[in-house]
Amino acid sequence: MKVKRLPKDPGPAAWNALLPAADAAQPLEAAITADWLVIGAGFAGLAATRRLNQLCPGDRIVVLDAVRVGEGPSGRNSGFMIDLPHDLASDNYGGSLHRDHAQTSANRAAIKFALEAGAEYGLGCEAIIKSG
Ligand SMILES: Cc1cc2nc3c(=O)[nH]c(=O)nc-3n(C[C@H](O)[C@H](O)[C@H](O)COP(=O)(O)OP(=O)(O)OC[C@H]3O[C@@H](n4cnc5c(N)ncnc54)[C@H](O)[C@@H]3O)c2cc1C
Repeated sequence: MKVKRLPKDPGPAAWNALLPAADAAQPLEAAITADWLVIGAGFAGLAATRRLNQLCPGDRIVVLDAVRVGEGPSGRNSGFMIDLPHDLASDNYGGSLHRDHAQTSANRAAIKFALEAGAEYGLGCEAIIKSG
């Protein structure tokens, strides 16, 4: 399959530039088979991969990204995850309280999942969790 659109390269990723040089990338050059294909190794792709691995241990999962892991938006952000994201396009900064609560609750579950992954891989993540 020929990919028609790929992410634009906005230049060096600052966090990555602080790290020692990584091993050379491993481009996919031959046809391979897998039980699952995850495209994109950002927060969403890596979280989906980890969950698939928990649910289907032993399945072969391939994660494919157009750039090095950590060089996409997930590796360029400020480094904190919040439970109710800013909605910059919103006129009233929110809208439905019910929808905000549902989103906050889903995001807290995602943050907990990411924290568990951070602990499992020794990434030194920290959490400030306020109830309410
Ligand atoms: C400068 C900056 C600061 C930010 N600050 C924060 C913050 O402090 N807190 C916060 O919560 N969020 C922040 N964000 C937003 C946050 O980074 C995104 O919400 C998050 O990265 C989204 O994760 P994702 O996995 O959905 O997508 P992405 O991180 O965009 O991952 C998608 C991946 O898919 C790959 N991809 C795309 N198309 C293809 C293709 N055709 N073939 C192969 N691979 C492909 C891309 O290379 C990329 O690695 C910030 C974003 C930026 C850019």
